[in-house]
Amino acid sequence: MDVFIVPILEDNYAYVIQSGDMVGVVDPGEAGPVVAYLEQHNLKPDWIINTHHHWDHVDGNADLIEKYGCKVAAPNECKGDKDVILQDGEDFKFGDIAFQIFLTAGHTMGHIVLFDPTYRILFSGDTLFVMGCGRLFEGTHADMFKSMQVIKSFPPETAIYCGHEYTAGNAKFATHIMPDSADIKSRAMEVIGQGCTMPTMLATELATNPYLIAKSIEDFKKYRTAKDNF
Ligand code: ZN
Ligand code: FE
Repeated sequence: MDVFIVPILEDNYAYVIQSGDMVGVVDPGEAGPVVAYLEQHNLKPDWIINTHHHWDHVDGNADLIEKYGCKVAAPNECKGDKDVILQDGEDFKFGDIAFQIFLTAGHTMGHIVLFDPTYRILFSGDTLFVMGCGRLFEGTHADMFKSMQVIKSFPPETAIYCGHEYTAGNAKFATHIMPDSADIKSRAMEVIGQGCTMPTMLATELATNPYLIAKSIEDFKKYRTAKDNF
């Protein structure tokens, strides 16, 4: 599977993906830059894939459907017509691969992530960011801590593509909350000022992401709350 990064809005990423003769767009929060990319590369999307219902991940759907007649695969919480409902424990066939769908409640209650076991690629939406995780708009700390364990269950060599470029801010917070970690210190130096930091490797996140390092709901809650007030 091939993944192309399309920066949209202020700090969101949409992803144009290709497998076999299938073309998809993950989380088109706006259509303009996605259409520009598709036209430049002579691609027509077959599928829109959404991770959760927030506007900055779905607001480009309507324009893409109108222009290309593409289908929509999204979790049930997303409004509008869906050709496939992405549900926990199910597979979503896409070209030569099949995504495994996992519910990761917390940021929203119906948020899903997509894992491609063939190429070991994860689309994490707003559940996991580089050195960070999504804010808890709908779920509890226990929900999101459970979702972090889902992320940790993937192979360490998994490449993760996140919904936002929040890396610089997350790196500053991680350095603040875990000042004794040499891994975090060196990772922060690497990513601050880097520009686009996608994808990140799960192995790197396991060593430098405070929310994955957290060993209990209590630790997780402590870090998440501190970040909300940072
Ligand atoms: Zn969101
Ligand atoms: Fe978002």
